[in-house]
This record gives sequence, C-alpha cells and structure tokens, in this order.
Amino acid sequence: MVRCFIGLGANLAQPITQLQQALVAIKALPNTKLVAASSFYGSKPMGPQDQPDYVNAVVAVDTTLTPLDLLNRLQQIEQQQGRQRKADRWGPRTLDLDILLYGQDILNSERLTIPHYGLSQREFVLYPLAEIAPELILPNGTVLQDLLTQVPKNGLCILCNSCS
Ligand code: ATP
Ligand code: MG
Ligand code: MG
Repeated sequence: MVRCFIGLGANLAQPITQLQQALVAIKALPNTKLVAASSFYGSKPMGPQDQPDYVNAVVAVDTTLTPLDLLNRLQQIEQQQGRQRKADRWGPRTLDLDILLYGQDILNSERLTIPHYGLSQREFVLYPLAEIAPELILPNGTVLQDLLTQVPKNGLCILCNSCS
C-alpha cells in the first residue's frame, strides 16, 4: 500500500455536494482505502476572477493502484460529476481531483507530474494537507510546516454553518 494525497476542488453546481459525492466515489475505489479527509475550505479562485469561490479539501488514501490507474479512476469520477474541460485554464469546474503526492515517488510523464506542480504554492492545498498530515515531509525534503509559513491564507477558511 502507498499513502497518497488527493486534492479536491469545485466551484459549480453545489460545490459542497460535489465534494461529498467525490468522497463517496473515492471510498469506493478498488484496492484503495480512505484514511483521512480534511475539513472543507472556502477559497478564492486562481486565474480568472470572474468565477465563483471554490470549495477545497484534501484526502489521504492507501492504495495499490499505480499512479496512472489512480489518475484514470479520478478522471472517471470527474467525468461522472460532469467535468467539462474548457480551453481557458483554471476556469470554473464541477470537480477537480489532483494527485498531490504518491508516497515519496517523484514522477514526470506526459500525463502525470507528482508531486503536483502547484502543491508548494497553493494555500488551498497546503492548509488542508497540513490538517490531516501535519508532520509531512515532501519527497524533496521540504517540511510541509515550513511551506505554511511562506504561503499566506489568501482568505482561505474552513467552511462552517455561518459561512453561507
Ligand atoms: P492544475 O493542474 O493547475 O491544478 P487543473 O487541475 O484544472 O489545473 P486538469 O484539467 O484537471 O488541470 O488536468 C489537466 C491534466 O493534468 C490532466 O489531464 C492530467 O494528465 C495532468 N496531470 C499532471 N499531473 C497531474 C496530477 N498530479 N494530478 C492530476 N492530473 C495531473
Ligand atoms: Mg487542479
Ligand atoms: Mg486537475
């Protein structure tokens, strides 16, 4: 089993429900066990600002799926939940599932860059990740807690009843 971390994001069609459905689908993946899930966070969009705020979370799974099998399965879940890939990068979406880490592996292929290339700069990845894996050290030796001191929250907040 390899411990992997997956980043979830949504900002269309009831994003909280999208993330809840995605959690159910991830739990049902073959040869995979959901180990932990962060709170849901509200975040500001990257790139184009004329789109709704995002809901983000990070989950930990233990899996024997290969990285490519895991990517294929996650893309299937995105499709099931109506993900449409558009030309403009970082546009609004019903669901985005990114592989953040696959154990301590470093991969650079046409379809996969692991660790995810945005991991170290994105507040909506780092803070949820630290919630479920506070002691984490990245494959390049970077201590997760050190990244938190360098990346401001930029309005990121745990969603609560008084949010909406
Ligand atoms: P970003 O990658 O900046 O977060 P995005 O998630 O919106 O943007 P997508 O449209 O979801 O981008 O994915 C584009 C491609 O990225 C996918 O088809 C996939 O092959 C590739 N990719 C590379 N590395 C990863 C990874 N670690 N996790 C998920 N997809 C990846
Ligand atoms: Mg993404
Ligand atoms: Mg993606």
